[in-house]
Amino acid sequence: QAKSRGKNAYQVFTPELARSVHAREHISRELHFALEREEFSLRYQPQFQGQQLIGVEALLRWHSHVLGDVPPGEFIGVAEDTGLIFAVGEWVLDHACRQAAAWHAAGQPLRVAVNISPRQFARQDFVTLVTAALTRHALPARLLELELTERLVVEDLQGAAAKITQLRQLGVLVSLDDFGGGQSSLSYLMMLPVNALKIDRNFVVNAEQNEAGQRVIQAITTIAHALNLHVVAEGVETAAQLSLVSSLGCEVVQGYLLGAPMSAEALTGGRTLPAPSTA
Ligand code: C2E
Ligand code: MG
Ligand code: MG
Ligand code: MG
Repeated sequence: QAKSRGKNAYQVFTPELARSVHAREHISRELHFALEREEFSLRYQPQFQGQQLIGVEALLRWHSHVLGDVPPGEFIGVAEDTGLIFAVGEWVLDHACRQAAAWHAAGQPLRVAVNISPRQFARQDFVTLVTAALTRHALPARLLELELTERLVVEDLQGAAAKITQLRQLGVLVSLDDFGGGQSSLSYLMMLPVNALKIDRNFVVNAEQNEAGQRVIQAITTIAHALNLHVVAEGVETAAQLSLVSSLGCEVVQGYLLGAPMSAEALTGGRTLPAPSTA
């Protein structure tokens, strides 16, 4: 996809420039029109438990006709700062639920995980919006998972816990994304009624060369299992990483080795569901 970018767009989004005020202004300006210009799409990345495809993570893609492909790492923050994240997040939730309902109706039910930004989650009416999306698409709640980051609970742990409880009562699944990467705290884990932890990709990448890192993953999975949580390893790129994280107790895996984020059609369109590329 990088190749399909315009030459100028590619130059604009070097990491250094992307962080500059100038680039953020560009992004902010174009982001305002992205919804009405229908420049967003979702990709779905498979998640496996053993050989079994158990769900997908919906990942947002933005193809700006002015800027080219802009990765979420460059525009989600701008969307949060400008408040556009409310409309963008609602679009993602709606489209992910629509796709999950379509798979369900086609007799291939697949759980879809949606990333939720802190400001979105902080809304008073967040649970109401989730309920409305489920109802609108007649989607069973168990086919929706919400990925939250630790960042969103730092300010109001009690409030976050209450909201997660409401979501769980609906039947929606909730996971903590990028666990271990930020201000991880065991008190969050104990207080938040989530289903699963997603171990930060950096742990997975570094574990091979780093024995201490392996013990940290093992400790996290031990604690998580003691709290009845599933553990997902994300960013698994090699067979060696797959066997390592599996042996350290991660039962769900996600990463390029098992499947890149892809269109809904590529995932299920007329073909059998994909199987892991290694045994
Ligand atoms: P995340 O939720 O932790 O998503 C995982 C990221 O890792 C995705 O990047 C995915 O494409 C990438 N990835 C998956 N497997 C591999 C692998 O094997 N190797 C490597 N190097 N990377 C892998 P992506 O799609 O660029 O998204 C980046 C972040 O942007 C996401 O991190 C998430 O925090 C945010 N994001 C994406 N879509 C949405 C959305 O709809 N709403 C919100 N609020 N945030 C989103
Ligand atoms: Mg995620
Ligand atoms: Mg993650
Ligand atoms: Mg991440």
